[in-house]
Amino acid sequence: MKKLLLLTLAAFAAAQPARRPVALVVVGRTVLTQNADHRVLSPGAVAIAGADIVDVDTPDEISRKYAPAETIDARNDIVLPGLINTHTHAPMVMYRGLADDLALMDWLQKYIFPAEAKTVSPELVRTGTRLAALEMIESGTTTFVDMYYFEEEIAKAAIEAGVRGVLGQTIIQFPVADAKTPADALVRAEGFIKEFKDNGLVVPAVAPHALYTNDKTTLVESAALARKYGVPVIVHFAETEDEVRIAREQYKATPAAALDAMGFWGPKTLAAHAIWVTDEDIAILKRHGVGVAHNPESNMKLASGAAPVMKYLKAGVPVGLGTDGAASNNDLDMFEAMRQASFLAKHAGRDPTAVSAQTALDMATIGGARALQMDRLIGSLEPGKRADLITVSTSAARQTPMYDAVSHLVYATRGDDVRTTIVDGKVLMKERQVRTLNRATVVADANRLAQKVREAVGR
Ligand SMILES: [Zn+2]
Repeated sequence: MKKLLLLTLAAFAAAQPARRPVALVVVGRTVLTQNADHRVLSPGAVAIAGADIVDVDTPDEISRKYAPAETIDARNDIVLPGLINTHTHAPMVMYRGLADDLALMDWLQKYIFPAEAKTVSPELVRTGTRLAALEMIESGTTTFVDMYYFEEEIAKAAIEAGVRGVLGQTIIQFPVADAKTPADALVRAEGFIKEFKDNGLVVPAVAPHALYTNDKTTLVESAALARKYGVPVIVHFAETEDEVRIAREQYKATPAAALDAMGFWGPKTLAAHAIWVTDEDIAILKRHGVGVAHNPESNMKLASGAAPVMKYLKAGVPVGLGTDGAASNNDLDMFEAMRQASFLAKHAGRDPTAVSAQTALDMATIGGARALQMDRLIGSLEPGKRADLITVSTSAARQTPMYDAVSHLVYATRGDDVRTTIVDGKVLMKERQVRTLNRATVVADANRLAQKVREAVGR
């Protein structure tokens, strides 16, 4: 009898495997996985080991299977994949509000390029990126795509802050702070790629500024450099009608066709803006597997136009969302970008069904990952992917009551509502306290540096 009892207990123990130790479990009121089926768990939990998600399930199932070292109680929050900002220029937070209410070409050529010529330095880039990283962590962005100067400073600041970055060293035809010629810039870009190509958090990239700011040789060499190392190319593309006019004069073709004729397009290419395109241009982008970074706020502020987002999605061109630099937005809040992406598409197309809340959330998460060809790693909460996730409070008056979590995230939530930000399994912010950056120092440094910018531009 005693033997039988022991056998029964042994069988019971075998059927109840020991709980697997994991670093972290996040328990949420609602978990939006953003997987292919848009699986939603209410409540739900995510188990994290090292940098990876190991499981997503109900809190009961997760607690039955895992023994976490730490648990984040987000039972009043929505848990979702970290947001992916597919287009920005992080250090440009230092030019926030410096020149507003201007057309793109005036804004760029009369204000931004001259301000940059006088003030861009490794120090400005470092200080600006820390400020941008603080803002991104505080508003739920876990991956950002950047193109700027002294990109190695941006990489170091991103790693220090713990934010994931696809970072492009800028190649531009005229002399800039970090390169006198495009040839210099290409040498810099190659050094940058070599320095960071094996980094787990940073993906180095080559960023030829645009078709209208580079000659053909520079564009071709930029793409060739990226292909040599298998890294992404990031380019401003078809942002204004002016750019199309210039391309037609110079190349007798649309920007998409001109770049196609050069052999510029290829996989791992991200085209920012992509507003002024024909159906044939869309087919060119689709044929080469190009991703689009849509920047509704910047495009509206500079009155550049409205990218045909629904056409891209229908054609199977992956579309991510971006804020663009803070000089043309003027913040890095991806919740606002989602909302404005939806409103702009509805308004421009006179179609209230265009860019639904779910479509906007897709663009800010898995769509952005697809546009970067990083959807095997990020963009949704699934076992095996990197643990990049955020929790968002739903307790504000403006979020009450809640019938639909996705509707709330896109139409009623702000970056300030983010409570927790996790990248690569590391908690960067908990209960709105950022752990990787000293908030007071970052803000004070930026304010001190702004004095130099003010003096340089006579403001
Ligand atoms: Zn831009």
